[in-house]
Amino acid sequence: MLEDWTIYSWYCPNCKKEVAGFRNKKNQIRVKCAACRVEMIRRIVGRHHDVIDIYFPTGEGFSDWEMREY
Ligand SMILES: [Zn+2]
Repeated sequence: MLEDWTIYSWYCPNCKKEVAGFRNKKNQIRVKCAACRVEMIRRIVGRHHDVIDIYFPTGEGFSDWEMREY
């Protein structure tokens, strides 16, 4: 397989809206949530192991995100 055009989609951890993107050559899927503007980079680490890094837009801190989890 030369190119993987599978659409990867998941739910934004910040606002729960669905986001989707394509995998690039570095096994990363870069997505910006249209609803809350959070940027996410999902990395395919292994067959059953993905990591999603979340980058909040400036002005919004991590504390807000942690509050929502409880
Ligand atoms: Zn969002």
